[in-house]
Amino acid sequence: MESLHKRILEEGIALSENVLKVDSFLNHQVDSELMYEMGTYFKKYFQNHGVTKIFTIESSGIAPSVMTAMQMKLPMVTLKKQQSKILNDDVYQTTVHSYTKGYDYELTLSKNYIDKKDKILIIDDFLANGEAALGAARLIEEAGATVAGIGIVIEKSFQPGPKILKDKGYDLYSLARIAKLGKNLIEFVD
Ligand code: 5GP
Repeated sequence: MESLHKRILEEGIALSENVLKVDSFLNHQVDSELMYEMGTYFKKYFQNHGVTKIFTIESSGIAPSVMTAMQMKLPMVTLKKQQSKILNDDVYQTTVHSYTKGYDYELTLSKNYIDKKDKILIIDDFLANGEAALGAARLIEEAGATVAGIGIVIEKSFQPGPKILKDKGYDLYSLARIAKLGKNLIEFVD
């Protein structure tokens, strides 16, 4: 996605060799037109996957997900990050390690918003070690539903997540794929 590459190069700040900051259009301020365009790309790639719902992980996945959901005319569900286990039968929960914050949280989904027949597209802002996407997939599969695919805005291709997800057989589609990060350096795979 050319316009996304351009914005990453113009506004992205590599905080280290591992973390990219894109607060000006994705993680703090949101560029709604850019998010809408992301939706057109995700729709084009996933439109024949039989998707029934889009799941995302709060909070930075919400903007691209809702734009995709609107264009695919599908509901969107936000998986919540809870600090502790909820002790009732109304939710599915799984423990996920946060890449940027360094602590564990309980990714939580109400049983009301998933059905065995659902084919779910997971969308998130970044892919690093794949923990968040794998957590979402665990919740979906625990409910007896299917993961239709995983859409990522910015994949850090040099980190383990992309290979882990592909090895598990998930259909992964990323709008930008970063090969290398460093001081004043952002290199794309293609
Ligand atoms: P993973 O679960 O794949 O290890 O990491 C993905 C999650 O961590 C994303 O939901 C995102 O919130 C956060 N994350 C991972 N790497 C980055 C990064 O380089 N920049 C930002 N802003 N968030 C990241």
